[in-house]
Amino acid sequence: MLRFSGAGVSDVGLVRSDNEDSAFVGPYLALVADGVGGAAAGEVASATAAYAVSATVLARMGEEPEQLLLDGFEAARTSIRRGVQGDLARLGMATTLTAVVCDGHRAVLAHVGDSRAYVLRGGELTRLTTDHTYVQGLVSSGQLRAEDAARHPWRNVVLRSLDGDPVHEGVDLLPLPVSPGDRLLLCSDGLSDLVAEDAIGELLGVEDPHSAAAVLTRAALDAGGRDNITVVVLDVVDGPMVVGDGQLLGAVRDIANVVDPGAVRLAR
Ligand code: CA
Repeated sequence: MLRFSGAGVSDVGLVRSDNEDSAFVGPYLALVADGVGGAAAGEVASATAAYAVSATVLARMGEEPEQLLLDGFEAARTSIRRGVQGDLARLGMATTLTAVVCDGHRAVLAHVGDSRAYVLRGGELTRLTTDHTYVQGLVSSGQLRAEDAARHPWRNVVLRSLDGDPVHEGVDLLPLPVSPGDRLLLCSDGLSDLVAEDAIGELLGVEDPHSAAAVLTRAALDAGGRDNITVVVLDVVDGPMVVGDGQLLGAVRDIANVVDPGAVRLAR
């Protein structure tokens, strides 16, 4: 049976006073969410999304990963919208969300925004997600060279998120053909904006997931740490099923940041 053996770090960085990222790392589910919004609403958006998806997936393990992810993302979107209705100071709050579920046989990735997923296989790093950003649109249409994207002044303009996305363009859903020995990385832009992909590939390969998450976070801090940094590293392993849900990281560790947890059950 396939599962993940992983570790994660969510670090406030060197410039921000609060951590607006949230994450979850467990044997069958991992995710990263990067919230935005004034008046502490970024924490609320990412924490609510991380809670809604982890509660949905963990309560219904064994069901089809695609459906678990779509229902989890929808529960997240609904709860974030409710959080704005309940407190208009949160107007505009939103979050990225990149999540991977493994059902023992196969893995599926779901993604909205500009957090990223990568796979390291045979020493080669491949990006699995497409940024939902204005700048990625320019690269995809050939108007900007990929190597210039990281320096573009509008590189942080995110076009799709939960729930700052009035047109509701949906969720990217990707089957991940993983094998034992693959190493996955989920990260917020506090890593990918500051550390080049070739360096990410090298550091991701070190030792065990704990060490890899630590050295990647260290590299983002050494590069200035101007944003919150969240790094989840997962080894794909083959073995017996394990018991244990996993670990929450970042803003979602404070339940006060989660909007209306009871609504997640009602949405099922
Ligand atoms: Ca960020």
